[in-house]
Amino acid sequence: MPAKKRKPDRFCVFCGHTPGSAKHKEHVVPQWLIRATGTPKRMATFGPDPRTMQGRRFAFSRFKFPACESCNHRYSRFESSASRILSKLRQRQPLDGDELSHLLDWCDKVRVGVWLGMTMLDKNISAIRHRFFIDQRIAMHDRLLVIYKLPPREGLTLFGTVGPIFQYSPVAFAVAINEIVLFNVSTMGLCSKALGFPYPVNIEALELNHPGGFVCRVHPGEHASSYPVASDIWFPDGGVEVYQTAVLEGARDDPDHDSYNTEYFDDFSARD
Ligand SMILES: [Zn+2]
Repeated sequence: MPAKKRKPDRFCVFCGHTPGSAKHKEHVVPQWLIRATGTPKRMATFGPDPRTMQGRRFAFSRFKFPACESCNHRYSRFESSASRILSKLRQRQPLDGDELSHLLDWCDKVRVGVWLGMTMLDKNISAIRHRFFIDQRIAMHDRLLVIYKLPPREGLTLFGTVGPIFQYSPVAFAVAINEIVLFNVSTMGLCSKALGFPYPVNIEALELNHPGGFVCRVHPGEHASSYPVASDIWFPDGGVEVYQTAVLEGARDDPDHDSYNTEYFDDFSARD
């Protein structure tokens, strides 16, 4: 049955509220990244229009969506740090744990921002009910980042961000930034079990058009790591793999279990 037509939502990609002014927009693919990978006004393809299946082609600089002025401002330092870290990566300089965490956060921001932007661009033809925005998705679930180095090239390409699979489940994407490729996945329980931390069991997804909504039980974890860390996710060999677990939302404050009050958790956790 065709999706019911509905008026496209206009919301801030960061917080989900209606922005006070129509003037402020967020480049969900940041401007500094567009500039670093070619001429800012170059044309790019943003998938087919799902209603006509005609290719959508316009300048990268026009790929921007509503945002509150304050939200936009709030993320400016975040983007400066990401730019500096990617520059280090391109120069093959080592990154420390905080920098890798920031890179993972930045992947969350871009992935979710592109998802929200694409649903707006598609006039939300699938009638997705957005349960989260950028603010609610940074460091929310376990994360994987695989970093590849290609032969020298210039350009910016997004992979996996067009079509119904990404619309209903925006958990994975890749981005080629000149000669660097970042492959990123973020989902509940992706690596917590293999890294010995508490992990979700009996996961049940909520309705299909509520991306990201789950209920589960929490297993206390094995307190020992095992490899491969994410055996059910395929990606090409040759990249540097980075994994990070997240505390399950609501579980740490649950007085009925103490899965996170362990020596193992304290010894191997990077964040409070
Ligand atoms: Zn906002």
